Amino acid sequence: MRRPTVTAPPGIAALLLVLGACAPDAGPSLRFDPPGWSGAWYKGNTHAHTTESDGDSSPEYVARWYRDHGYDFLVLSDHNVFTDPETLAHLVDSTFLLVPGEEVTSTFEDASVHVNGLNLPHVVEARTAESLVATIQANVDAIREVEGVPHINHPNFRWSFGIEELRQIENDRLLEIWNGHPTVHNEGGSGTPSLEEVWDLLLTGGKLIWGIAVDDAHHFQGEFHADRANPGRGWVSVRADALEASALMEALEAGHFYASTGVELDDIVVVGDTLTVHIRHDRDFAYRTTFIGSNGVVLDETEANPAVFVLDAATGYVRARVTNSRGDVAWTQPIFVTGR
Ligand SMILES: [Zn+2]
Ligand SMILES: [Zn+2]
Repeated sequence: MRRPTVTAPPGIAALLLVLGACAPDAGPSLRFDPPGWSGAWYKGNTHAHTTESDGDSSPEYVARWYRDHGYDFLVLSDHNVFTDPETLAHLVDSTFLLVPGEEVTSTFEDASVHVNGLNLPHVVEARTAESLVATIQANVDAIREVEGVPHINHPNFRWSFGIEELRQIENDRLLEIWNGHPTVHNEGGSGTPSLEEVWDLLLTGGKLIWGIAVDDAHHFQGEFHADRANPGRGWVSVRADALEASALMEALEAGHFYASTGVELDDIVVVGDTLTVHIRHDRDFAYRTTFIGSNGVVLDETEANPAVFVLDAATGYVRARVTNSRGDVAWTQPIFVTGR
């Protein structure tokens, strides 16, 4: 049997090709890190609101909250309002970056169409088109036109759209698979798939899309409660060469990151045909890693740290979901296995 060729996400694959590591005849000898996946991990939230739209705190307060809570970067994403990070330059230093952004906020009939634009040069006007799919696409395109990076937000918010619409959208690499707002229905229900199921269906259908977790924070004042949109719930850890907007955007679009609601990873490595997930052990928490493939099928499960999976055992793609004994999760991005 011919050994499968293990392919990394495009950005990683390009690096690996440069290293000559992808030649199938040589057998898979790929690794994400180092040298293919260099740099440091940067923790960031790409979705937060302020009093510039429907948040309860000023941009200054919100940015300080994230800076004071160990985040390396933040995107202030108010509804159709752009906050120029220059106005908060005094908060930015070598350890904390504000990436300019906006939640481009539109509707089509009863559906809410919210697409975040990251690293925007200025405000992007929300668009409405002749159909729901066309409206989502028009807002993705509006962000791309100014060289921003789109991410599609909370499809299950007001049960707005799902797999049928998302599979038709082009030029978007990022999808919220977890959002900390209390009414976004991450888990689906009543016949609507969870966002993680939607992600697997998209991947299984051949769409290259990365899963992100975000706060969608609105409430920084008063009680922190499950029914309020408080900060600190969902984030991404991005592997990038520098804490700079362009490097972070490149890494996000290439899938060089994991998403989290509380589990931290030290590394995600592919050497030869083996995927290894190194979990950062916190206090006395226990961990379970589930390796998931096409159609969301569970390929393997382990309580070991590091968690190891031999890619030979899979077709299509493999991704890992690490859960701790509190229920927090880290999601790695899919690795594609081809060549059978
Ligand atoms: Zn929204
Ligand atoms: Zn929002």
